[in-house]
Amino acid sequence: MSKQFGPEYVRAIAPYQAGKPIAEVAREFGLDEANIVKLASNENPFGVPESSKQAMAAAVAELGRYPDANGFDLKAALSKRYDVPADWITLGNGSNDILEIAAHAFVQSGQSVVYAQYSFAVYALATQGVGARAIVVPARSYGHDLDAMAAAIEPDTRLVFIANPNNPTGTFIPAAEIEAFLDKVPANVVVVLDEAYNEFLAPEQQFESAQWVRKYPNLMVSRTFSKAYGLAGLRVGFAIAQPEATDLMNRIRQPFNVNSLAQAAAIAALNDKQFLEQGARNNAAGYRQLVEAFEELGLEYVPSYGNFVLVRVGQDDGAGARVNLALLKQGVIVRPVGNYGLPQWLRISIGLPQENAIFITALKKALG
Ligand SMILES: *Cc1c(COP(=O)(O)O)cnc(C)c1O
Repeated sequence: MSKQFGPEYVRAIAPYQAGKPIAEVAREFGLDEANIVKLASNENPFGVPESSKQAMAAAVAELGRYPDANGFDLKAALSKRYDVPADWITLGNGSNDILEIAAHAFVQSGQSVVYAQYSFAVYALATQGVGARAIVVPARSYGHDLDAMAAAIEPDTRLVFIANPNNPTGTFIPAAEIEAFLDKVPANVVVVLDEAYNEFLAPEQQFESAQWVRKYPNLMVSRTFSKAYGLAGLRVGFAIAQPEATDLMNRIRQPFNVNSLAQAAAIAALNDKQFLEQGARNNAAGYRQLVEAFEELGLEYVPSYGNFVLVRVGQDDGAGARVNLALLKQGVIVRPVGNYGLPQWLRISIGLPQENAIFITALKKALG
């Protein structure tokens, strides 16, 4: 490849590996799209909520105009839900956008960003995209080691990413540990607490992280409509932080980063309690279905608090790719995680009961 364009730190970026689309697998393996099961991207197996579909249909008439750049109605709904002022909210084109905006807003080339080994791939991309230095802190039992992360912060560190629950491992950090961590972080270091899977936590595990931003001016809580709310294709997420950090985010953000349909659909989904409850019930039952199968097969897995499970499908570094290919041939798409440094593992998103069952049957065959 030519070496003449772009800075070295951009050339060093390894492109994000997304889950394979259904149509691509159908083409590659000569399968019927209708028979393919996709458990690869932690999407909601129920799809788009009906309430969101109706809201989008009503919003179509206004698509000739630019979206509301300030997202007034969506921010008002979020403000009410999380009991924070509307001007503490930044909207994102998915929460990936929030992560990237944060890197641009708070970090300059040459400074450092702290995140954990085996945490979300986008932290590395956002860090490298601004020419910053990544301080990757070794995981403890596949989760974040917050003591080590606090100790890893250097004088030039400006940002810390924490995923809770974490993707791809599904691990969870209780509230008290995160608060103890926040108490240790220097005031000039922004902590992005990425809670993309918060809605899947049992009520007793949930905590008022949105209220912590009142106490910590350097805390930013990030959420998404892509997972529990079933709107991954629309791209909408948001961050909650005090005005100083939020103001910088809004200077970097593209003015029309969240489109009109996404804003309308997100408001409807936010108020659709039934949809969330149905998703949570399905997720809890599907988790049991998957881990019971893993136990029966004698496969190690990481106990998960999200809508996916990380499972070890072999003891050699070819195992993840090999079993993944055997699953693809049977029309089951899951996520290999070799790019996360976990070549013996696969990440399985929790689907509908029937989808989970098809996966389990295919897995048994794949393992021979
Ligand atoms: C899926 C995911 C996101 C959300 O991505 P969107 O851009 O909102 O679709 C953010 N963080 C983590 C850890 C995720 O797994």
